[in-house]
Amino acid sequence: MDRNFIQKMLIGIFAIACLIFGVNLITSGDYIQEQVQNEKLEINTNVSSSRMTYGRFLEYLEMGWVKQVDLYDNSRNAIVQASSPELGNRPQAIRVEIPIGASQLIQKLKEYNIDFDAHPAPSKNVFISIASNLLLPLIFISGLIFFFQNSDNFSQNSGSSPMNIGKSPARFDPRPETGITFNDIAGIDEAKAEFEEIVSFLKEPDRYTRVGAKIPKGVLLVGPPGTGKTLLAKAIANEANVPFFSVAGSEFVEMFIGIGAARIRDLFNKASENAPCIVFIDEIDAVGRERGSGIGGGNDEREQTLNQLLTEMDGFKENKGVIVVGATNRVDILDAALLRPGRFDRRITVGLPDRLGRIGILKVHAKNKPLAEDVSLVQLANRTPGFSGADLANLLNEAAILATRYKKQIITKNEVNEAADRIIGGIAGTSMEDTKNKRLIAYHEVGHAIAGSVLEGHDEVEKITLIPRGGAKGLTWFTPNEEQGLLSRSQLLARIIMTLAGRVTEQIVFGNTEVTTGASNDLQQVTNIARQMVTRYGMSNIGPIALENDESPADYDDKLADRIDSEVCKIINHCENVAKKIILDNRVIIDLIVEKLLDMETLDGEEFRELVRNYTVLPTKVA
Ligand code: ADP
Ligand code: ZN
Repeated sequence: MDRNFIQKMLIGIFAIACLIFGVNLITSGDYIQEQVQNEKLEINTNVSSSRMTYGRFLEYLEMGWVKQVDLYDNSRNAIVQASSPELGNRPQAIRVEIPIGASQLIQKLKEYNIDFDAHPAPSKNVFISIASNLLLPLIFISGLIFFFQNSDNFSQNSGSSPMNIGKSPARFDPRPETGITFNDIAGIDEAKAEFEEIVSFLKEPDRYTRVGAKIPKGVLLVGPPGTGKTLLAKAIANEANVPFFSVAGSEFVEMFIGIGAARIRDLFNKASENAPCIVFIDEIDAVGRERGSGIGGGNDEREQTLNQLLTEMDGFKENKGVIVVGATNRVDILDAALLRPGRFDRRITVGLPDRLGRIGILKVHAKNKPLAEDVSLVQLANRTPGFSGADLANLLNEAAILATRYKKQIITKNEVNEAADRIIGGIAGTSMEDTKNKRLIAYHEVGHAIAGSVLEGHDEVEKITLIPRGGAKGLTWFTPNEEQGLLSRSQLLARIIMTLAGRVTEQIVFGNTEVTTGASNDLQQVTNIARQMVTRYGMSNIGPIALENDESPADYDDKLADRIDSEVCKIINHCENVAKKIILDNRVIIDLIVEKLLDMETLDGEEFRELVRNYTVLPTKVA
């Protein structure tokens, strides 16, 4: 047979396939069904275009930010109702594409006690569905042969049509003007230095190869979301002025065996054609998960995809300038083979920024915003330990939105503080009616504040407010003193005493019968701290024994359990007594501050300290 004939035959097969496929289109075969369904989803729920990757969604689950989940297309798509600090704590509907093989999702949802509902796909004719199931592979196979024979040039926005199914879905930017430079990144200096070196390699590879230096093929960025991993990758592409491919790991996770692998192959083909260049794979754990670890002993498709990735990374023995940057925050579940030398041989940890880092990041994001002179970024950084770069960017953005809402030309301290309050504590409600309840809450909060301010080693009061926020009726905030790294025993005790002091004040002022349910959260915190002191930090009479840790929680006999409980009680009783003494000793100033607070509704730290300063408050030791 001559070549021409084969080609004609292929075209013939393809034409027939197209015909059948056309019928499928009309009668809704599986693949098309999904797309139709997707469109329906968007109309149905009026969802803004917001989407979230599956990995991100899992984090949201863990953080308790997910309120409700609606599953569509046999659990391939979901609309998630969530609210989180990065969404400004407003509930939003977000679309999540769920990778095949994530069958443990339902289990998870039950575990986290999340309201979920599965919406069945509209029923279809049985005959057609059988026919389409049989025909579809044929179509793809013939379609793929045809296309692989005929198309040498790749299209840039691939992956969107069924004929491009084996093409990499990576977004490609030949001359990335991401606009992001190293100057836009702060607080992660170590990672930056590492990347600056890679830029210099991409610019002058000879300098390195001349002295026999091997260039890393893969760099793995490990860290929690929002810490600037994507930002780093964009910055190196921009600074080195090389092409930039960007793709999320979950985009390789597919239903048909071999497709993910084909996409990987395609991605690396394109990359080596465009070398030197950068390939950025976000959430690489979606493909790089340890093999054989899925439900039912693993997932063939994913394993093939991962194997392909490993092969490709081995493929370029001499690095001609394709640098693969992977990002994940779950390095623990990555297949060990990925981390071997010659693959992702550099691992860079990108952690949450420390205080100085936060100042730097705030400065970066304040650059294009008119800030009033009274705004102190240093103070803001003090208030926000545990915030990621994305959280901080979000905070300043929120402040800018507030300023616009109040029709101000510049952003003042007020807007910045309000934005921080919102993100830390939730959106403020309307203030309470002047009732006995309000008075009780005022005493409760002032109790916290006074105890916190007289205890040695306790953080300073930042603000007391009677304006309800995020479920709490009133709030007392403290400025975290330094990085919350190591805490001493006396600091832990001080925190317990301060936390108990709210309820203790209710008891002393209103009598034991009037104590309310409002302190349940306080009590939970107190119990947690005391328990950890006993079981993790060896800070009780049981001695320096780790009875619990993250891997093996609570596994001891009744006798030991009893002892633990009695030690926990001892700590809490002691602290309650100290709290009582503090409140009784300072009753006069407490009454005075309560009146002031009922009047003003909010006192900031300075105002509070001013009031306290006029009276002598006895400094108190915790033990
Ligand atoms: P990741 O990829 O680690 O999840 P991103 O790089 O996408 O996080 O960060 C999201 C946004 O947060 C960035 O676009 C930037 O505005 C801000 N951001 C995060 N980290 C930093 C940082 N170190 N310096 C400046 N801005 C940051
Ligand atoms: Zn309280």
